[in-house]
Amino acid sequence: MTNDTAFTGYADPSLHAKGLYIAGKWEAGTGIPVTDPSSGKTLVEVPDASIEDAMRAVDAAEAAAADWRETSPRERSEILRRWFTLMSEHAEELALLISLENGKALADARGEVTYAAEFFRWYAEEATRIGGEFRHTPSGAHNILVDHEPIGIAVLITPWNFPAAMATRKIGPALAAGCTVILKPASETPLTAYAMARLGEEAGVPPGVVNVLTTTNPGPVTSAMLADPRVRKLSFTGSTGVGRTLLAEAAKTVVYCSMELGGNAPFVVFDDADLSAALDGAMVAKMRNGGEACTAANRFYVQSGIHDAFVKGLTERMSGLKLGAGYDPDTQCGPMITTKAVDKIDRLVSEATSRGARATTGGAPLDGSGYYYPPTVLENVPTDAALAHEEIFGPVAAIYRFDTEEEAIRLANDTEYGLAAYVYSRDIMQAMRVGRGIETGMVGINRGLMSDPAAPFGGAKQSGQGREGGVTGILEFMEPKYFAVEF
Ligand code: NAD
Repeated sequence: MTNDTAFTGYADPSLHAKGLYIAGKWEAGTGIPVTDPSSGKTLVEVPDASIEDAMRAVDAAEAAAADWRETSPRERSEILRRWFTLMSEHAEELALLISLENGKALADARGEVTYAAEFFRWYAEEATRIGGEFRHTPSGAHNILVDHEPIGIAVLITPWNFPAAMATRKIGPALAAGCTVILKPASETPLTAYAMARLGEEAGVPPGVVNVLTTTNPGPVTSAMLADPRVRKLSFTGSTGVGRTLLAEAAKTVVYCSMELGGNAPFVVFDDADLSAALDGAMVAKMRNGGEACTAANRFYVQSGIHDAFVKGLTERMSGLKLGAGYDPDTQCGPMITTKAVDKIDRLVSEATSRGARATTGGAPLDGSGYYYPPTVLENVPTDAALAHEEIFGPVAAIYRFDTEEEAIRLANDTEYGLAAYVYSRDIMQAMRVGRGIETGMVGINRGLMSDPAAPFGGAKQSGQGREGGVTGILEFMEPKYFAVEF
């Protein structure tokens, strides 16, 4: 099914996608072209699953469920640990694959593989630490015993921007908890998910415990799975709009939902910040994955005293980045995922500049093949510009000036999103105060990168519900059972 010439340098053909992965079997097929965003060329086609295929995946997950939930935590842990090791051993091939289908720079792709594999290691460890609870009732007359049971079959839906990590962040805790899963990766980037499933097979994941399918018809296919009473969990990562639709769909059968949705992160820099550290952090918070990250700094609020130096420093750094194919080792900023993504960025930047914003570098899409938008810095952006309220999802840093702490908090909170925020100040009391004042699930204090498998990742407001990673991530796949015990 794969066109090997498109995978020049991609060393391990055993990781090439072989088809839908259902009940431990590979089912060849076509129907979904996967495109290299660096060139616009089709790499390969993967199968387009129907509703019937999805229901067979639910059957497979059901058939495997009873045995899997009865495996010992140690056994589940060791399978996840082997999967971690295999991902680490195949890190370079996986990174190249991510770069090929997603377009991100190889350095970012390598970072993603490490991050993704860590979820398997972390949940290999957490699998053996699932706790319960014992307490006396306040009267002292009775006992309360709480166990945690696997929640049941879980449907996992992931976006294209982190094809490996968004999948392992769900599969790791689900398997550790004792659940079987059906993973539906984004059609733009299915190859990484299928390659990881191949490694899972090798790690000893039993047939039916992990099923993977791709479809051009995600709405009806997902609705059919959610309508099946055997499915008890939906874990979704993607846009807030699709998240809202899926919450409504899941309500019909009262399926538990974890929602990791869109972001609009403010990056607040106070006058007393260490300028060089703030610029380093800004580059990571903005440019990881070329800006295609839910945690990407979307709005830079910079206090008046440091504003001009920050604009100058960021402009120098952004204009010095090398743009190119993700898999070219010199590339620092790869292409966007699609032409549609480039058009959206162009629309947002044009709207801002038509209203007084000024590009100090970049500011217009590039001609030629591939879906490129150059690193761009905008100053003098009106706070009601469209790009202050929509996810830019690209290499555009929009800078706004502020004067007081109260103003910074008010501006930061002027959004329906609440995923991530960044605060730079040498005054740690001020940084913590502002961090507390911003309505968000995560805050980076003098740090531009917050993702860590050991930390609870997730959003407030319309950025989501629930948390992935950390010690609580496994509980998203478990249901508490209370025993009223007399003894
Ligand atoms: P998207 O919502 O368009 O798609 C996400 C996934 O949902 C894909 O697999 C897609 O095929 C599927 N999908 C689309 N419509 C569906 C439907 N009606 N029913 C079921 N599934 C459907 O998002 P995207 O463009 O792939 O990803 C970018 C978005 O994801 C951004 O908003 C970004 O902020 C968000 N994101 C959030 C996090 C987080 O952890 N909060 C992480 C990464 C990305």
